[in-house]
Amino acid sequence: MATTESTGPGRLLIGGEWRDALSGKSFETTNPADESVVTHVAEAGEEDVNLAVQAAREALESGPWGRMPAAERGKILWRMGELILENLPSLSMVETLDTGKTLFDSGKIELPMAASIFQFYAGAATKLAGRTLNSHPSAFTYTLREPVGVVAAIVPWNFPFLLTSWKVAPALAAGCTIIVKPASQTPLSAIEMGRIGLEAGLPPGVLQVLPGPGSSAGMTLVRNPGVDKIAFTGSTVVGREILRESAGTLKRVTLELGGKSPNIVFGDADVDAAVKGAFNGIFYNKGEVCAAGSRLLVERSIHAELIEKLAERAESTVLGDPREKSTRMGPVISRQQMESVLGYVETGKKEGARLAAGGRRADEVNDGKGYFVRPTVFDGVDPEMTIAREEIFGPVLATIEFDGFEDAVTKANATIYGLAAGVWTRDVSKAHRMAKAVKAGTVWINTYNLYDPGLPFGGFKASGFGRELGLEALDSYLETKSVWLNLGR
Ligand code: NAP
Ligand code: MG
Repeated sequence: MATTESTGPGRLLIGGEWRDALSGKSFETTNPADESVVTHVAEAGEEDVNLAVQAAREALESGPWGRMPAAERGKILWRMGELILENLPSLSMVETLDTGKTLFDSGKIELPMAASIFQFYAGAATKLAGRTLNSHPSAFTYTLREPVGVVAAIVPWNFPFLLTSWKVAPALAAGCTIIVKPASQTPLSAIEMGRIGLEAGLPPGVLQVLPGPGSSAGMTLVRNPGVDKIAFTGSTVVGREILRESAGTLKRVTLELGGKSPNIVFGDADVDAAVKGAFNGIFYNKGEVCAAGSRLLVERSIHAELIEKLAERAESTVLGDPREKSTRMGPVISRQQMESVLGYVETGKKEGARLAAGGRRADEVNDGKGYFVRPTVFDGVDPEMTIAREEIFGPVLATIEFDGFEDAVTKANATIYGLAAGVWTRDVSKAHRMAKAVKAGTVWINTYNLYDPGLPFGGFKASGFGRELGLEALDSYLETKSVWLNLGR
């Protein structure tokens, strides 16, 4: 596959300029569908990070950004949304080359959604307001809502552009400046977002992009006293480390972490709809979805029928070049991830789960090049098994049977995580009772994996804290200040 046609070498965006790393270092980004090198990207080191933090601080405190009316910020955000849509073919190609997600998913779903997020927050910029209080007879009191300051966004590889937009759009609406550290596997679309920001009229230093390793570039951002807030999406392990390391400078931190979300199908559900929902719930984006419905809880009465239909669907899924129209599933992100996923498959078999579909590398695809894993369905999974407890972050589903409502609640909540859940039933009361009983930040009833810029998203328990999207996301990019004015007597 010729992969460099849509993208040249990537550079760092610091202070409105494209630069090489001061160390001169760069790294390769590869296409997981054929293992070819897409391009080279400058690798930010500690000194680049420090320069970017300085530029972000200057842009916040002495640049035009801090004096810009909210409506002007809103116009720039709206324009960024328009530019995303105008550049959809090239942007979605870059995203697909870097991640292995299908061109359909990047071009028809995720990038348009990112555009809608910029345009949602474009409108929100002018709606930020404090309060005036009448409670004190001899004082005039009011609150101001001010940008939290310099933000560092640390982003994973599963939805590089979309999850970056979840952080950049509300941060800019709130008047912050932001430094994006994309995942090492997928730096390219964040660079494109930097380009779009400059074209839309962001002043220098307001949005900066620093590709580089998490352990150095990422950690330097986390420790740098010039960064006021970290917005992190990624693994729970790294989330814990970020929380520990940011304690030194008492940064504001929001964490969107892993999940092991239950997709709960009751015996009275529309089985065909549930099969489709269970399939998309786990296999969208090859299972590399934080909110993936990776535990399918099925009521015993419909279990056999559901598993049979689901296995059939999984077995007939077409894997291939993510740029082809006929392809329904692309490769997982890397060799390491593929090996990890296949390792979980082995563990599942060893611990006694029954393989109902998949369970192997699809080495018939692309002559064995690329990291293709067949969509895998395990049946007869016990809640104690490793595949029922640990986040696999790949196309592997663990099916667990249950008997009745209480058993479903117990099994659904038997996890350290709490990001999302699905419920399938024709009984409205039961659906709402389950929505209340399950400990998760999002509950989908008779659907799965839907997102809206206006609806907050985030975790309970070890899935993190803070909310992204919605007006709620703005709270974590703002400080509230109370002002007292003495009115005399
Ligand atoms: P990850 O290893 O946690 O990496 C996420 C980001 O953090 C990457 O940019 C990474 O940089 C950086 N990073 C790694 N170590 C760091 C450190 N010590 N200090 C600062 N930054 C560091 O996660 P991943 O493997 O990329 O993504 C998969 C995981 O993310 C899954 O567990 C999934 O559940 C979770 N996830 C959660 C959500 C959500 O919304 N809750 C969404 C997507 C993914 P490098 O790429 O250079 O390592
Ligand atoms: Mg890549």
